[in-house]
Amino acid sequence: GFKCGIVGLPNVGKSTLFNALTKTAAAQAANYPFCTIEPNVGDVAVPEPRLKQLAEIAGSKEIIPARMQFVDIAGLVKGASQGEGLGNQFLANIREVDAVVYVLRCFDDDDVTHVANKIDPIADFETVETELMLADLESLEKRRVNLEKKAKGQDKEAKALLLLVDKALAELREGNPARNAEISEEEKKDWAGLQLLTAKPVLFVANVDEASAADGNAYSKLVEDRAAKESAGAVVISAKIESELAQLSDEEQAEYLETIGLEEPGLNRLISAGFDLLGLQTYFTVGPKEARAWTVKRGATAPQAAGVIHTDFEKGFIRAETIGFDDYVALKGEQGAKEAGKMRLEGKEYIVQDGDVMHFRFNT
Ligand code: GDP
Repeated sequence: GFKCGIVGLPNVGKSTLFNALTKTAAAQAANYPFCTIEPNVGDVAVPEPRLKQLAEIAGSKEIIPARMQFVDIAGLVKGASQGEGLGNQFLANIREVDAVVYVLRCFDDDDVTHVANKIDPIADFETVETELMLADLESLEKRRVNLEKKAKGQDKEAKALLLLVDKALAELREGNPARNAEISEEEKKDWAGLQLLTAKPVLFVANVDEASAADGNAYSKLVEDRAAKESAGAVVISAKIESELAQLSDEEQAEYLETIGLEEPGLNRLISAGFDLLGLQTYFTVGPKEARAWTVKRGATAPQAAGVIHTDFEKGFIRAETIGFDDYVALKGEQGAKEAGKMRLEGKEYIVQDGDVMHFRFNT
């Protein structure tokens, strides 16, 4: 599965947000209860309104959303890269995630201590990211020594890797995250193999006070500006409100959302933003038993999509009967789409489109 790591300084609202996420997941999908894999890993349903539409048309008994994981990575303080706080443990946890969500404190509250005694979400972001950059610098400098020795011989692989290491080092020494480096298509695989903490895509969560949940506040504006500069996503959320929402029934939620001027829980926006950040898209399988959402990387081929369901589907792939979501809805299901000539037979080269309703044919 795909994983987003939640990071931030202490007392910014990470746990509050994490707990809200996991409670909501439990409420959302009774068939797939929230499972605690580890105390800090939450497995959440990806909100997908199209699933309900598909299930209604096909008369599916069950709706099964796609899942995504959030990891609460606590313990980051200034000096973590030098082993302060949970230091190394913390960094190891970040290495395993696909994307990093920075929770930034955008609320005043004299009862909640701020580690730097001042509410300044941009400074907080920089403090956290600096630790990640220092950790990357240290690990790269270590690797470089070895690579340089190997590259002096005829080791082509070492030479290529050394080039990438130097690209990353150049950014980091300028005080930039490794994700700023320009990486060609051919280099992408090796680049990912370097497992740099600051090469992962990032998302900013501005955790605002309850009164600013709908419109944000001066702090969250700063966060949004910074996110724009970083080409990162930003979500304004009040973790406090989300934790209250997560405990309500659907009806109560709708009412509460209306009173505070929100269209949907902020968590839905957060999960969707995480989904986008990871470069993911959805395809569906629909039948009388279940309507189910599956997750693939954008750009995935039909056999790769089939492989998400089962590796045998990918190995034995013959073709995919494919109906676009809009056609499926407009023509009221598979039969109608077939009759209208809108069910396509797609082969191995087909690039899956978001919302495709697919049925795989394969050899066993
Ligand atoms: P963490 O250390 O980042 O995990 O922070 P916590 O989630 O434990 O929150 C620290 C404190 O801040 C708790 O007392 C929360 O109730 C409080 N808190 C979190 N979010 C908000 C918020 O949006 N508004 C206010 N006023 N307090 C919040």
